[in-house]
Amino acid sequence: MNEKSIIEKKIKDKSLSYEEIKYMVDGFVDGKIKEDTMTLFIKAIYNNDLDFNETLNLTDAMIKSGKVEDLSEVEGVTVDKHSTGGVGDKTSLIVLPICASLGVKVPKMSGRSLGTTGGTVDKLESIPGFKSELPHNKFIEILNTVGCVDICQTKDIAVADKKIYALRDRTGLVDSIPLIASSIMSKKIACSSKNIVIDLKVGNGAFMKNVKDASELARMMIKIGKYYDRNVVCVLTDMNNPLGNNIGNKLEVREAMKFFDGKYDKRLYDLVVCLSSYMVSISKNVSYGTAERTVIRTIENGKAREKFYEWINAQGGNINELKVEAKRIDVRSDKKGFVKSIKASDVGLISSLLIGKSKNLNNGIVLRKNIGDFVEKDEVIASIYYNKEVNNMISIIRDAYELSKNPVKEKSVILKIIK
Ligand code: URA
Repeated sequence: MNEKSIIEKKIKDKSLSYEEIKYMVDGFVDGKIKEDTMTLFIKAIYNNDLDFNETLNLTDAMIKSGKVEDLSEVEGVTVDKHSTGGVGDKTSLIVLPICASLGVKVPKMSGRSLGTTGGTVDKLESIPGFKSELPHNKFIEILNTVGCVDICQTKDIAVADKKIYALRDRTGLVDSIPLIASSIMSKKIACSSKNIVIDLKVGNGAFMKNVKDASELARMMIKIGKYYDRNVVCVLTDMNNPLGNNIGNKLEVREAMKFFDGKYDKRLYDLVVCLSSYMVSISKNVSYGTAERTVIRTIENGKAREKFYEWINAQGGNINELKVEAKRIDVRSDKKGFVKSIKASDVGLISSLLIGKSKNLNNGIVLRKNIGDFVEKDEVIASIYYNKEVNNMISIIRDAYELSKNPVKEKSVILKIIK
């Protein structure tokens, strides 16, 4: 067996064996297979796809490239949540304490921002003092006492995925269904929760641009989950528009705080309730309707809010010291009408440039008008928080708003549920 023959086989669109896939994955992790060669291999997969067995084998090889999290000391049932990445997606900050307040444990490992999408770890680290790296015993202790914990994915989980993902990101080989399915599922299986809810974003601000491809990805991830005896639910959600009003790290933490104070954007609320309800439903083995009632109750009676502050505090965060320290400039509309859409990809692009490589966690965008709102000419539609201007930032945000003469019907953020 050698890498050249394996790559040629995939270029000819032939199925690879487990040994062949493992040979490539292990060789890349060990450094025996160099980046250029691995790029050819990934490109061959990108162009010709993998069938289900090959995808499963790739997932398995990536799980075995690292350690599997030991949750045996966790008391009670656990559930994990994953988002494929979006603009303004702060749902993890809200969903974790909701589930924990209902007795469902959430041991979560999150990533940092990628491309134009935000990362939960960056959002949490924008809270002064918050520790996103914890020793295993502390991780378990917080899980058993508070009920939820979110840390930066440890280096030893799905080691191969980390290396392969970075390579895919650099070489523009990200949006492939078998590559995404194996990447996500290797991490989720290695994190060991029996129950997994995946928020699969669909639209111009996401990797998956349409419901058809997203459904195929969802079905593949569910089938991989079944093989490992996991309950997986995929919630396909809209990412043509940003989620909620705030985009950017500290700004998104602020929006989560507002949520618990009862001031929420409807689309964010609907998605939070849906994800939390599936997480509770599959973990406690109760109907979705029953789970939803308890989720709404824990939001309304303040228990989820209490849990949110308890959790942040347990990980060292001093949320009272969260201050957005940036210059602010308002964006005004050049016409009037009802907001029909706000192009997530453009908003994501500007917010990622504002945050930049130096990760200025203060920067970002606040949408002052959202879908369905009426806007007068010259009215403020958004505010940009910045330390250094980004080229054309005002016009790009202004043009991201599509206005309509007629009132806009509410469009559900939830597109489809696949289980
Ligand atoms: N998220 C992941 O973890 N992996 C992918 O390949 C794409 C999104």
